[in-house]
Amino acid sequence: MFKKGNSATPPLAGSQARPHKHHYVTNSILIVASGLFAAAAALAVVKPAPPPPPVYLAHQTLTLSAPQPASHQYTAPFISETQIRSGDTLAAVLQRLGVQDDKLQPFLANDKGAASIYKLYPGRTVRAALDADGNLIRLSYYHTPGTSQDGHFVSKWLEVTPSGNGGYTATEHSQAASTQIRMGEGEITTSLFGATDAAHIPDAITLQMADILASKIDFVQDLRKGDRFRVVYEVYTHNGIQAGTGRVLALEFINGDKTYDAAWFTPAHQSGDYYDFHGKSLKGAFLRTALKFTRISSTFGMRKHPIRGIWTGHQGVDFAAVTGTPIHATADGTVKFIGWQHGYGNVIILKNTDKISTLYAHQSRFAKGLKKGDSVTQGETIGYVGSTGWATGPHLHYEFRINGKPTNPLSASLPVARSLDSKDRPSFEKQIASYKQDILTLARLQDNSIQLAAR
Ligand SMILES: [Zn+2]
Repeated sequence: MFKKGNSATPPLAGSQARPHKHHYVTNSILIVASGLFAAAAALAVVKPAPPPPPVYLAHQTLTLSAPQPASHQYTAPFISETQIRSGDTLAAVLQRLGVQDDKLQPFLANDKGAASIYKLYPGRTVRAALDADGNLIRLSYYHTPGTSQDGHFVSKWLEVTPSGNGGYTATEHSQAASTQIRMGEGEITTSLFGATDAAHIPDAITLQMADILASKIDFVQDLRKGDRFRVVYEVYTHNGIQAGTGRVLALEFINGDKTYDAAWFTPAHQSGDYYDFHGKSLKGAFLRTALKFTRISSTFGMRKHPIRGIWTGHQGVDFAAVTGTPIHATADGTVKFIGWQHGYGNVIILKNTDKISTLYAHQSRFAKGLKKGDSVTQGETIGYVGSTGWATGPHLHYEFRINGKPTNPLSASLPVARSLDSKDRPSFEKQIASYKQDILTLARLQDNSIQLAAR
């Protein structure tokens, strides 16, 4: 929940969705073993794999279980885990795990079944279960946390267990990853990535957030200190190990005094897409900027820069950016011109509709292989920022033209976004209510888990 900001009630907080029950995982063993990971895991709603669309039907029947108090009679194995570092050795990994066993390392070195442990991928997880006397019960190496296989997201891991006669057995396992729903929220102080990093939101999700609202917000230049967001997204996990990221399911973004929202929805007999909470498609409109949002451009946009995107007498918008920043098509179109023009330097002109064309000037280079007559899709990289032609420094000069006449895209009347059919309304409303409920519940749980971690 947004605690700061007294004026406006967050739009989601006032919503009254039908109550439904969830099962939450608060893995207290993991909080001991790895506080950082557990804080993230505690926010998750567990669902079985694979995820059948629509995703929210699956967890209607699950029940809420209160966190169990710590018990002194608890006799489960002590579990420790570590992430592989670059340049790591097996001996160092086993030492960090607290495994003291003279026979284990020679076994791992010689047994063919355990061969996968000799590829130590930095960042991957090794977990050991030890009994009260420090004897190894199980060693697990999650060497392939997530890989797509026959349409399923599959995790692979090596498991080594004592064989009873002082030796060991190594077995390779694989299993479909399960999908978890997570919620992240943050307030921007330096950049969007700064805020999402702090909320442990994966980069792939951050980039999706920028993509989803790209027709509403210029993420490179419009973000301001104090902007806030909440995002519900999927991650693939296996035994609590994050194996990959799925898609953003719901998003709320407060930019200045405007609130934008988005939800993933699949209308009957159509493919899924993002809609605002009122059922208007977020697809189709022109993107607010021609600069691709990246980790680098995100910090750049927070600075004041002399070349700011203002529609002035020179009939274009100048976007300051470092040389090499990818430029993307603001809408679907065909390449009408690609090459050198006096003043513009390396320039691309796209024909987007019968009337509308867009121009991208001063490029350092074009996308490889792009030529006149090619069709490009919205968001596709067409070239890279430079300072060719009449440019005092690296920037993108962007023009939006109606019937060949440069026009301010913000004041132009553009095609109205598509709305959902009335027959899809009931299921859409139901899903939005469910998203809102999830955000509220997870926000409450998050407050709880932060207290847990602080103890
Ligand atoms: Zn310009």
